[in-house]
Amino acid sequence: MRYAMAVDTKKCVGCSDCVIACQLENNVPHGYAREWVVELVEGSYPNLELELRSERCNHCDNAPCVRCCPTGASHIVEGGIVLVEHNKCIGCGACITSCPYDARYSHPEGYVDKCTFCDHRVERGDDPACVAVCPTKCLYFGDLDDPRSAVSRVIRNRKYKTLIPEAGTEPQIFFLT
Ligand code: SF4
Ligand code: SF4
Ligand code: SF4
Repeated sequence: MRYAMAVDTKKCVGCSDCVIACQLENNVPHGYAREWVVELVEGSYPNLELELRSERCNHCDNAPCVRCCPTGASHIVEGGIVLVEHNKCIGCGACITSCPYDARYSHPEGYVDKCTFCDHRVERGDDPACVAVCPTKCLYFGDLDDPRSAVSRVIRNRKYKTLIPEAGTEPQIFFLT
């Protein structure tokens, strides 16, 4: 089993409903975020192209945040989900520094937090909150080892990219282009 997500940059309208759903679902404190929306303008006037991307932790297969954690708080569970065990975290911030995607934040209660792929929802068979709420259905989640999953089907039929592939982290969020 290998959980992954695909983000359709052609369908995202930048509404940030996913960001708000994530904050409410996961009790993310005000002023912090497990996910965010990037607006990227490319080209020169009048030939401009806008790309909107809902971003979060990439649940990397080769995760530097896990390797550098001195206490084992940052770890990978079945399905490849990268998690932080809050009561093992000493808040040293090594993982924040090592992440090329700036996907983690220091929680005011003294531990580091980030996207969990909503593992509590996935365990009971639901989609992550951001996927469930997206009004344009531009987020696809599922098991890459299952050819029938939503994420497998969409990346089989579309072109996609990952972010900062040269970092060698083997990210598991695929941006459909
Ligand atoms: Fe770690 Fe950052 Fe990769 Fe998430 S995106 S697994 S925090 S290196
Ligand atoms: Fe590990 Fe916490 Fe330090 Fe991050 S801040 S490296 S999770 S102990
Ligand atoms: Fe937030 Fe869950 Fe979406 Fe991760 S999968 S960005 S924790 S709502």
